[in-house]
Order: sequence, then C-alpha cells, then structure tokens
Amino acid sequence: MPTYALADCNNFYVSCERVFDPRLEGVPVVVLSNNDGCVVARSNEAKALGIAMGEPVFKIRQMIERERVRVLSSNYVLYGDMSNRVMSVLADAVPASEVYSIDECFLDLDNLAVPDLTEWLRVLRSRVRQWTGIPISIGVGPTKTLAKVANRLAKKSPRHRRRAWPVPATEPPAREATPPQRLPQQPYTPASRLENAKRHIWKTPWDWPD
Ligand SMILES: [Mg+2]
Repeated sequence: MPTYALADCNNFYVSCERVFDPRLEGVPVVVLSNNDGCVVARSNEAKALGIAMGEPVFKIRQMIERERVRVLSSNYVLYGDMSNRVMSVLADAVPASEVYSIDECFLDLDNLAVPDLTEWLRVLRSRVRQWTGIPISIGVGPTKTLAKVANRLAKKSPRHRRRAWPVPATEPPAREATPPQRLPQQPYTPASRLENAKRHIWKTPWDWPD
C-alpha cells in the first residue's frame, strides 16, 4: 500500500517572523496581505481571539488595540527563503518529495525502510524545527488526499497530535471491473460540429457570424 505524508508548516508566515523576532512568541500575531488590507496569517493566539483568515484589518482595529495584537506587513522574500530551507530539509530525508505550496510538501514514504514510522516522523519534525526554526505538522495516509486530511486532524486535535496515523488507512474502494461504456458514435463532420457549437454555446443565433 502506498504511503504518503503531508508536511505542513504551522502558521507559516507568523512562524517565519517569529524566527527573527522571538518577542513575537506566545502573543497574538497577524500578518497582512500585500497592501496591508487583510489578515493572511494568524498565530494560534490570534486564532483564539476569533480573528478570521482574510479579515479586513479595519474591521478589527479595536480588537487589535484591546488585545495588543502584533500586526506585521508581509515579507514574501523572507517567506520564500524560509520555505526553500524547510523543503530542502524534507527533500533530503525521503526518496521522493513534491512541493505542494509555499508551506506544504508531500513526502513519498513508499521506499522508506524504517522500523518505526511514527518515531521517524517525530525526529524529522524536530529536525526541521531545529534546523530552520519552523514548526511543522505531518499527516500520513495511503493517498495524498488522506495525508492532507490527517494533517488537518493533527493540527486541530491534541489527541491526534501524538499519532502518526490519525486517519484509519483503509484501502480505497476497488474500481469496477467492467470497462466504461463508450458514448454512442455520432457521424462527425465539421459542419455537424459547428451546428453543435451553435446550439450549445451561442444561445442567441444572431451572435453567430453566419
Ligand atoms: Mg500551513
């Protein structure tokens, strides 16, 4: 059975900022979009205050002042550089990997001969933290989709945080043995194709140049 892991950096932009400014640890932090208009990253403390992803910053001005939320402009050069560092640590650890986004990477664990996968992944997680300063979560599953679901569970639930297999690794349903039915053959001519296009796409006949 194939085994995939999805490694996902926690609160990535905030985590990058925290590497270079430890005063941001343990306090609510948000990072804003390009024009400082909307919230694009939140620390756990900011999430706990109910600040939503994409929230326009003018709507939460009062809360920012009341709760002393640290507000930062985004620094995409820094995030890109930190991402490269994290991805290279992950890529060096496994036979094959696929960068999925700036803060996510799929790891192909198929040909990985390790006696205890859970322990191995814990070590990998600490290595990324130690070498780059970025905390990551890792979800494992028999498909990439399930690995992503497992990652989401690992982030949300403390119970799952300690388990390498948060989602039961069941086989996907077997595909049906019968071949798919072919569509009935239709006589093909350029003219019939044109008629079809006119009927289906151009609803108003006067739009069509005759
Ligand atoms: Mg992330």
